[in-house]
Amino acid sequence: MKNINGRANRKLLPVGVDRGRNKKRISSLPKRPNPVLGGFTGGKYLGRGPWEKVSVVQWDDWKWQFQNRVRSPLQLAAIMNEPALSSKRYRSVVRAYPMAVTPYYLSLLYSVGESDPLRRQCFPDFRELDDSLGGADDPLDEEMAMPVPGLIHRYPDRCLAIVNSICAVNCRHCNRKRMWRGKKKSPGTREWLQTMAAHVARTPTLREVIISGGDPLLLSESLLNWFLGTLRAIPHVEVIRIGSRAPVTLPMRITPELCKMLKRHRPLWFNTQFNHVREITPESARACEMLLMAGIPVSNQSVLLKGINDDYGTMRDLLYGLERISVRPYYLFQCDPVRGVNHFRPEVFRGMEIMDKLWHNISGLCLPRYVLDSPGGRGKISLQPFSLLPERTPSGATLF
Ligand code: SF4
Repeated sequence: MKNINGRANRKLLPVGVDRGRNKKRISSLPKRPNPVLGGFTGGKYLGRGPWEKVSVVQWDDWKWQFQNRVRSPLQLAAIMNEPALSSKRYRSVVRAYPMAVTPYYLSLLYSVGESDPLRRQCFPDFRELDDSLGGADDPLDEEMAMPVPGLIHRYPDRCLAIVNSICAVNCRHCNRKRMWRGKKKSPGTREWLQTMAAHVARTPTLREVIISGGDPLLLSESLLNWFLGTLRAIPHVEVIRIGSRAPVTLPMRITPELCKMLKRHRPLWFNTQFNHVREITPESARACEMLLMAGIPVSNQSVLLKGINDDYGTMRDLLYGLERISVRPYYLFQCDPVRGVNHFRPEVFRGMEIMDKLWHNISGLCLPRYVLDSPGGRGKISLQPFSLLPERTPSGATLF
């Protein structure tokens, strides 16, 4: 494995990984021929744009990446050499929905074109302010299902704890955009977590706790360790699940120390969100491998996003890529009808067509379940490939 400067960096590999096999597998992952932001092309390092002088040690340090996130349209315009990105309209989008992109994620952009699927996930877009596209701040009524602040308790056996509101990259398609600012923000304090843990402790039917956010891996390691330990000490909690996009947007966050700490709280499951094959890089593959080596199964929950991954070839390449790095495709979510996100929503039939083709062409190991979270918090609906549906309903009506 090579570091960002193309030099061998043996230290980055997790202990116990077969270096020969790993090198071969990782070297088959996509390179980054980005003319503006730098990266590798033909095995040659081209530079890192504004971060050219940053040392490799800094680049590989998640705290440096986090502190140097691009947060303003002005900064983005200067980096991309696109003055239009600093216009008043873009600034108003960012006032409503703040932006944040790590230098690492920005370095994955191939082209400066607006249709780049990674750019679309992290650059502000005017359509976010177009309310005529519809959508609600909280279409799944998560706020209505909270017995204590931040804890969504909808099903008898499991609940979801929103531990903070901070992410490495503010994904423009996020279904919790309402939490990026104002009163809905989760403070991520010990008191906040303690209240949620107390609810879990007094509810014996809860056997599984999903820790989400924001990004739980952006809590301090000692606080996360304390929260996991507190949950683990509750006799009826059997399983803990962490939802984090860090392997995709800030893979340096997966450190040996973090893995060692997480390992203590097993059985622990980890769900992440790769939406495009180009997000599978040597760095993200290594992050997932480290979690797997710590005995933590890693699954993926993609979101079907218009113009990003809503075609058969792109989705197939993503699923193949996940299988190559031993990450199990778990869910493919139909994008929720969230205010400021609706320009990303494909037709449900589009997703069903894609699933139909996937079903007939790729290995079952690569197949996620295509689901729609029904508005109002009535749970998930499984969307089957067309060809698996009966042509008629039990009452005899023709379906399609
Ligand atoms: S990482 Fe998850 S919670 Fe954070 S912005 Fe992206 S989709 Fe939303």
